[in-house]
Amino acid sequence: MLLREIVQLLKLPHSEEEKEVQIDWLGTDTRQLNTPATTLFVALKTSKRDGHQYLQQAYDLGVRCFLVEQSSLVPLFPHTRYLQVDDPLAAMQLIVATHRAKFHIPVIGITGSNGKTIVKEWLYQILQPDFDCCRNPRSYNSQIGVPLSVWALQPHHQLALFEAGISTTGEMQNLQKVIQPTLGIFTNLGAAHDEGFESREAKLHEKWKLFSEAKAVICHTNDPLIDAKAADFTGKVIDWGKQPGSWLQVIAQKTEATETQFECQQDGKQFPFRLPFIDEASLENGMHCLVAGLYLGLSVETLQSRMGQLQPLQMRLEWKKGILQSLLLNDSYSYDIHSLEIALNHLQQQAGHNKPVAILSDLPGQASAETYQRIAVLLAKKGIRLLIGVGNSMKQHEAFFQELKMDTLWFTDTGSLLEKLDRHLLEKAVVLVKGARIFTFEKIVASLQQQQHETLLEINLSNLTHNLNIYRQSLPKGVRIMVMLKAFGYGSTDAELGRRLQHEGVDYLAVAYTDEGIALRQGGVRLPIMVMNPEPGAFASLVAFDLEPELYAAGILEAFLRHLSVTGKTQYPIHIKLDTGMHRLGFGQEDLPALLELLKEQPLIRVKTAFTHLVASENPLHDDFTNQQAALFREACTQIEQVLGYPFIRHAANTAGITRHPDLHFDMVRLGIGLFGISGAFQSIPLLPASRLLTTVSQVKKVAARESVGYGRQAILERDSKIATVRIGYADGYRRQLSNGVGHMYLRNQRVPVVGNVCMDMTMLDVTDLPDVLPGDPVEVFGTQITVKELAELCGTIPYEILTGISQRVKRILVEE
Ligand SMILES: *Cc1c(COP(=O)(O)O)cnc(C)c1O
Repeated sequence: MLLREIVQLLKLPHSEEEKEVQIDWLGTDTRQLNTPATTLFVALKTSKRDGHQYLQQAYDLGVRCFLVEQSSLVPLFPHTRYLQVDDPLAAMQLIVATHRAKFHIPVIGITGSNGKTIVKEWLYQILQPDFDCCRNPRSYNSQIGVPLSVWALQPHHQLALFEAGISTTGEMQNLQKVIQPTLGIFTNLGAAHDEGFESREAKLHEKWKLFSEAKAVICHTNDPLIDAKAADFTGKVIDWGKQPGSWLQVIAQKTEATETQFECQQDGKQFPFRLPFIDEASLENGMHCLVAGLYLGLSVETLQSRMGQLQPLQMRLEWKKGILQSLLLNDSYSYDIHSLEIALNHLQQQAGHNKPVAILSDLPGQASAETYQRIAVLLAKKGIRLLIGVGNSMKQHEAFFQELKMDTLWFTDTGSLLEKLDRHLLEKAVVLVKGARIFTFEKIVASLQQQQHETLLEINLSNLTHNLNIYRQSLPKGVRIMVMLKAFGYGSTDAELGRRLQHEGVDYLAVAYTDEGIALRQGGVRLPIMVMNPEPGAFASLVAFDLEPELYAAGILEAFLRHLSVTGKTQYPIHIKLDTGMHRLGFGQEDLPALLELLKEQPLIRVKTAFTHLVASENPLHDDFTNQQAALFREACTQIEQVLGYPFIRHAANTAGITRHPDLHFDMVRLGIGLFGISGAFQSIPLLPASRLLTTVSQVKKVAARESVGYGRQAILERDSKIATVRIGYADGYRRQLSNGVGHMYLRNQRVPVVGNVCMDMTMLDVTDLPDVLPGDPVEVFGTQITVKELAELCGTIPYEILTGISQRVKRILVEE
């Protein structure tokens, strides 16, 4: 779109020189700008960030057009055009709505409580062979995601599939204007987001607004609320279900081992149809797709053959530790340029100093030369240094990749890659593995990942980010966040987490020891890092890696000053720890005069922050004590500031302090265990568990009544039993206190008790009441069904000790929803 057109649309005064400026892209995130020169950067305020804080960054990257809030103070950059409006989000939606209106193609709008993304992706697979389709990448279905998705509509597209998700009233209308669906699909009405609406009816009413101008709507007739809504609809209702008279009637349904047989009737004709699923949700999603396909004119035969191949969607990205210290990003989500771009963004985020490599197959179906060229440009832009291509079509366009100075390596198929790839090329690399389904890239992932003894600690980066944002939202503007990553990020993993937090824009990291800080630096983390327990023997490496010491006593402060005077550094950033009641480390009240004396006119250092640690922030019984700590802290800070003559950051609150003591946030808070989904306080906060400990069954055996199980004959069976042995023991961090029925694990959707004593490497479970437990079955030790808190209580300890006690032999895997 021309900038001129946008200016007119927003009813802004226009200037002569901008006449022919072309806007090809809308950007809302400076980390994801592709072609800054033709991007309109939209400064959005969300609960997480204020886009206006990133104008400088966007400018530095080359953006020259900005859509900003009327009231914001904008920096004066040369040759820059600001479009100032009341509401940049609404303006962006208007721009995209205008873009959308230029296309006269079928546009399918999908909404409902569950299944939106799956229906969209399956329809894409079914329709793409006949129609060149545009769709939202992944589940970009929000107030921001929808306009960015619809903006991608191009003249070559013949059909579009857009999903819309809302969480409260008043939102759908905006999305309707942006999508302007001609055909609607209402997936179903469930409990998701109930809290945002007065009632289920109100939620349905709001969602249905997506169809206000659609000619037809597809829905399932099994819910009286939906039936009533459909009856009022002015367009055509394409309903399906058991009810006679439905547009498509399901006459019979039969479940077999892995598929379901339907007998359907539509337009007077009866025909059988098979779906390769047996679970309710997949069947409902599949039927929506069948009906949409028929309505769009595809034959039953075509639909049967295409839908026979549908598979459940793998939505998440998985990070796995690979061979030769590499890190693998396994993305088995459907393969197209959009999802490739998203995966590359994640790869870039984790690259640090390591070499980014992509292992890609040919695109599915027929892809044009132009598409491969776009892929080449994208790979180059995201810093890919080595492309390992599998298949013949991409290789035909080899020149595109070589032009961009990328190393390339080609294999005809996955088998020959597995046989011939020189694994040393991947040493210390970050590797994206993404291929079309027929290339079976799961074999590549299996061959490149570190051998695992199948007990895993799964760190969910999306949940971690969610938790971070929950705390971020609870802080007033301007209060910074330091994240405590001591003990390998509470037992999780260090550098990966550090890079993620850097990407999420936290202000500071803290570790316990110098070595931990060095590991973060070597992993490419550039954030300031505080070291809480700097050992004088390691001062040299501390300074060499730009780590900032916490100094807690006159002795160590003097030692550090002596070290600095030899290095010749001045104004070195340090942190002062004050003891206001913890009595662990820190300058106490009686040590203040000595501290002030040392700080007075001291050019070698610069005090970045001063802080104290609350002893019992989680416990209301000790609130008086907490307040007394705060008073001592304030007083000490005042004295220090007087001596220094400059301000510094003050901080006191840990996780529980953030929620329980909003008056003690000072200038920064120190978030620890809350990041992992454990609130620390008794209040309920909508955190998500960020770690899951998983293992697998190695053997299942029948053991007769009166036999014993395990060491020491502690468990004598009272009945004939079935015992499953799993691959985890106290050497992995599964504590021995959990023996003999105290602890439970979760498998095949049920909790089962530990039987006998926990061994060093194995534990036995009583699975007598579960049908069909098999070797290899996955088992949750803690995570969503069994909480860390529960285990801690059973062991008479705190969640911190359980988390940090998971031994390093348990492999860490990172996942991204
Ligand atoms: C560990 C630690 C924190 C974080 O504590 P959580 O309770 O995990 O939030 C904060 N400050 C200091 C000094 C710590 O050692």
